Amino acid sequence: MTDKKNRGFTTTVLHSDRQKPIEHGSLHKPIHTAVAFGYRDARELADVFQGKKAGYRYGRQGNPTVSALEDKITRMEDGMATLCFATGMAAIGAIVQGLLRSGDHVVSSSFLFGNTNSLWQTVSQQGMPVSFVDPTDVAHVERALQPNTRLVFVETIANPRTQVADLERIGTLCRERGILYVVDNTMTSPYLFRPKAVGAGLVVNALTKSIGGHGNALGGSLTDTGLFDWTRFPNIADSYQRFVPGAWGMAQLRAKGLRDFGAALGPEAAHHLSVGSETMALRIERESGSALALARMLSDDPRVAAVHYPGLPSHPQHAIAASLFRAYGGLFSFELAAGIDCFDYLNRLQIAVPASNLGDTRTLVIPVAHTIFHEMGPERRASMGIAESLIRVSVGIEDTGDLIEDFRQALD
Ligand SMILES: *Cc1c(COP(=O)(O)O)cnc(C)c1O
Repeated sequence: MTDKKNRGFTTTVLHSDRQKPIEHGSLHKPIHTAVAFGYRDARELADVFQGKKAGYRYGRQGNPTVSALEDKITRMEDGMATLCFATGMAAIGAIVQGLLRSGDHVVSSSFLFGNTNSLWQTVSQQGMPVSFVDPTDVAHVERALQPNTRLVFVETIANPRTQVADLERIGTLCRERGILYVVDNTMTSPYLFRPKAVGAGLVVNALTKSIGGHGNALGGSLTDTGLFDWTRFPNIADSYQRFVPGAWGMAQLRAKGLRDFGAALGPEAAHHLSVGSETMALRIERESGSALALARMLSDDPRVAAVHYPGLPSHPQHAIAASLFRAYGGLFSFELAAGIDCFDYLNRLQIAVPASNLGDTRTLVIPVAHTIFHEMGPERRASMGIAESLIRVSVGIEDTGDLIEDFRQALD
């Protein structure tokens, strides 16, 4: 990561807020709870509204505590600008509301976070058809492109089966065709991978997960990497074309996606997420080490039918993951041998908690087909490679030996 002095990731995150003056020299950006911002001269208020002067108008469109977090994420992603939202889903929803029009076409990975999959189904019904493709081979993406394809959407490592998209080749394809490339970086986080390196124009992060890291605040973000040429995007309204072209996308996303739909991130949540992000690199190093140790232990056990983790040499995209990611992250999934009930197994774990979150400091486990992927039904589950006994594990920062012992004793 890349501030001007080429300092490391954690140094840059820790000192990000102080790149701008902070009130009273406070070492944390303060939590500003005011919804409105007063101006002594009414003309100044008008200038802020007309974009002639920098400043805040109303909490839904921007807040100083949230801006400090946005700057921090921009530095993490080596991007140009970031917008924060109330949740990760709100950030993805803002892409639809802010950038798509009826009749547009979207190509999306079929290996997706469950709620994103559901969102794309809704969008299809609203007159913006979505083609789902297996993104592990760029040829599938290329075949799905149409003249009205406005964006290609992929996740880095898919949750829960851990397929890794053909990130670099899809980036090249999108650049050649002038199509906006959107990468959901939640599973890797900007510590393990920066989608800008493979040509992404917009980067999604669910801040709720690894960036906040403690399961105590929801949030989401969109980062413009500066690589996409917005003059090639047909849906930018005239009122946003008065800015320099590099700012068109973010200006329209802020107005249409954030201001008009209103899913603003609260300042208290922004503070929690910002403090959490200070230890992200340390947490992810620990989680990645433990996840690899657990994945190896389980894949060597005859009572386990399959283990899905990009860090295992047997993983189909291990080579891509090894070449692009700093480590393999804290998420893996596994299937028990036939005859072992996944609920029996989960109920025998003493440290790992059955719960639906990931990137938390605590190790969380979930029976995927019976919970987060229940609504879509068995056929769609099968098409996504979700076995009925699949267990997803989000590895926390507990001591590695304790986790190994816990997952082993539950098998015994
Ligand atoms: C959790 C998650 C989201 C949504 O984030 P929320 O903050 O829960 O709305 C989006 N994408 C991925 C890959 C996720 O894991």
